[in-house]
Amino acid sequence: MRFQIPQEIESRKMEFREFLETEIRQIGDERDASGPLKRDELSELILKLQPTDIMRASLPEEVGGTNRTFLERVVLAEEFARVWPSLAVTVDSHNIVVELIARQGSDWMKEAYVEKGMRGEIITGELMSEPQAGSDTRNIKATAILDGDAYVVNGTKMWTTNGFWAEVGLLTALSDPSAFARNPQKGVVHLLVDRSVSPFKSRDLPIIGLKAGTTGFMEFNNCRVPKKYLFHDESMGYMQNLVVRGWARVLLAAWACGIMQAVLEDATEFAKERITFGKRIGSHQMIQDMIAEMLIGIETSRLATYKAAELMDHNIRCDLEQALAKAYACEVVNRVAGMAIQILGARGLTTNEGFRTERFYRDARFLSIAEGTTQIMKLIIGRKTLGMSAIS
Ligand SMILES: Cc1cc2nc3c(=O)[nH]c(=O)nc-3n(C[C@H](O)[C@H](O)[C@H](O)COP(=O)(O)OP(=O)(O)OC[C@H]3O[C@@H](n4cnc5c(N)ncnc54)[C@H](O)[C@@H]3O)c2cc1C
Repeated sequence: MRFQIPQEIESRKMEFREFLETEIRQIGDERDASGPLKRDELSELILKLQPTDIMRASLPEEVGGTNRTFLERVVLAEEFARVWPSLAVTVDSHNIVVELIARQGSDWMKEAYVEKGMRGEIITGELMSEPQAGSDTRNIKATAILDGDAYVVNGTKMWTTNGFWAEVGLLTALSDPSAFARNPQKGVVHLLVDRSVSPFKSRDLPIIGLKAGTTGFMEFNNCRVPKKYLFHDESMGYMQNLVVRGWARVLLAAWACGIMQAVLEDATEFAKERITFGKRIGSHQMIQDMIAEMLIGIETSRLATYKAAELMDHNIRCDLEQALAKAYACEVVNRVAGMAIQILGARGLTTNEGFRTERFYRDARFLSIAEGTTQIMKLIIGRKTLGMSAIS
């Protein structure tokens, strides 16, 4: 395990940081508050990002990607969230699905969706959670029953990042509900659902943060998905969910690190200027205590996140390290963002005075809930440590 990121990653990180600072930051600061990006605004932003690695880093070279390591992708995600968390979550979540298509899709799927995905001509989302099945994925009810040359999909999907916009979704559904009831590792398939071929309804579920993005509620009523859109069959569906979840958890930990870095920088700058009782607040011991706590939170989160990414780069199964990074970073970010507001005082709460701390505070809040709550991460850590599961 390294304690410094390699020089070539550091250089690309700094290039990306500079790009984001000059090309993206101001748009985010001005645009985020007024709600979801329009679909064409999102495409424009993705086109703007093309000179950077962000749309290609996770893709193999044969489809035009740069195939960066997980460690580098974590570093890029952190930088992205440091500037505009809402856009980082939107784009990185979309990239997860495009990567899956590029690495595991059939040739026609790669042809149809990867280049368009890279250029933001289509937006994708991952449709797994349902109203009654968030943590409890054994309670999935959406079905995809084969009928001739198509799967007939019925059910409701909820909380999908990008779900409101997504032209293409990666849907988890039960192809054999009774097999799934007996054993939740069976009877599950993944289908690509392309709205232009298999229309479904969606609406946005606005939440307290991530205002530039959308979170979808989707309904499928006898939606016919042609057989050729089968992505993972019953032998692969369950295992593939586990692999994707592991990476996504590390990615959320990276976003948490980026948010913490941003609020630390803002709080530090403020503490060096603001004067109370005749001196800069940075020289009050209790402000230094908060700055130190913030830095401790960031550095420990970063180490845990980089460690999980490095293990993944070495193809070492690391459910515990992924869960630990996610549980820790995604909890501590709430405390760190809260301390940043505390240091800024009332200014930290304002929404219209040129401070962005409240936005980062709101944006951080979902991290301990999405992609496996902190409690579920602790159950994974407990199971791995004790060798016994709390969930029967
Ligand atoms: C912003 C955002 C984006 C998301 N994006 C996606 C997406 O793109 N695709 C997707 O499929 N889903 C997505 N989700 C859904 C997310 O994965 C779920 O919200 C999450 O798994 C938690 O499920 P839930 O909200 O239904 O909470 P519940 O599962 O109902 O949990 C409620 C509370 O009970 C606790 N709890 C549950 N079970 C246990 C237990 N056994 N022991 C102890 N405590 C327990 C939880 O920790 C939590 O505190 C997203 C969610 C959010 C907020």
